[in-house]
Amino acid sequence: MATAKVKASKKSIISLPNQHLRQRSKKVGLISDEIIQIVDDMQVATIDWEKSRQHEVGVALAAIQIDKPLRIVIVRNNPDNKDDPSFTTFINPEITKYEGKKIKDFEGCLSVPNVYGKIPRYSKVRVKALSPSGKPFRTTAEGFLARVFQHEIDHTKGTVFIDHIKDKPEAFYKLTETGELEKLDYDKDIKDNDVLWAY
Ligand SMILES: [Zn+2]
Repeated sequence: MATAKVKASKKSIISLPNQHLRQRSKKVGLISDEIIQIVDDMQVATIDWEKSRQHEVGVALAAIQIDKPLRIVIVRNNPDNKDDPSFTTFINPEITKYEGKKIKDFEGCLSVPNVYGKIPRYSKVRVKALSPSGKPFRTTAEGFLARVFQHEIDHTKGTVFIDHIKDKPEAFYKLTETGELEKLDYDKDIKDNDVLWAY
């Protein structure tokens, strides 16, 4: 017999209507070699996805997005620089405090192709997590990064960003081929969309 390890790629990323995206992920216990491999696969999959997307950056990913229901999040260190493929890993991340006001801004998701939304998020959050070596650490995020943490930690709880705007006709956009965000027709494209709302 033979075995072959399938290398992670953008094909590892699951997308709606896959029900797994709406399930809660489990807390990581021992940070085993398998967990480290999942982190590596998440990074490879995100960068591979980005290579296929002309107008988007792979800013962050949660493990459930490669169909691993574990509380692991990776966040790009320099999302403004596509030449820097490095990430920071957050194991069992938790938001310990929400601060500031809720601000609406655009968000997209590797697991929700081409749909963008204007989502209200707190402007500042405090996060605690474990590093891949098991060391607890804390960080404070503001602005865009605060938004990223709220989006990703939602994934660990089975919430997809569009769930926050389900009843907000004006909040849905699509990315056009030229990289513009264009308003979607809520009644036609969103409201009864089986892909987005299959629970
Ligand atoms: Zn996402």
